[in-house]
Amino acid sequence: MADVIDIAQEIEELALATAIRSRKAAPGLKLQPAGICQNENCGEDVTGDRLFCNRACADEYEETKR
Ligand SMILES: [Zn+2]
Repeated sequence: MADVIDIAQEIEELALATAIRSRKAAPGLKLQPAGICQNENCGEDVTGDRLFCNRACADEYEETKR
């Protein structure tokens, strides 16, 4: 049986690691690589753990989030 406190700490560490890895991203921004560009206006296929097909889409996504 999983320990609830352990899981909470694990999530906290994971969030911290993610924040450090992507300092440019806004805190709380949680995107998971899904094989497609996260820009709703695009939807292109992307490979690996990429979130966007290119920088322009990433920038556009940031803009549309506001
Ligand atoms: Zn795209």
